[in-house]
Amino acid sequence: MEKELFNYVAERAEVLATNDASTQVTKDAAAAWKVAVAAMLAEQFKRKEAGAKYCNCPSCTAASELLAKFGRIEM
Ligand SMILES: [Zn+2]
Repeated sequence: MEKELFNYVAERAEVLATNDASTQVTKDAAAAWKVAVAAMLAEQFKRKEAGAKYCNCPSCTAASELLAKFGRIEM
C-alpha cells in the first residue's frame, strides 16, 4: 500500500476505532486493524535491523526469488 493511501486509511481507522458515533463492532474491527498493522510493522523493522533486504510476505518472497534467480538482485 502506498504511504499516502496507508495514511488515508490509518487516519480513518483511528476515527472509527475511537469515536463515540462508531458501533462497538466497528470500533473493535478498526482497533484490530491497527493492532495487526502495528505488529506487522514491528516485525518488518526487526527483520530490517537484522539485515533483511526485502519484505518476507509471500508475494515479495516470490518476486525477490524470481529476481535473484535471474541475477537482478542479491538475496
Ligand atoms: Zn511483501
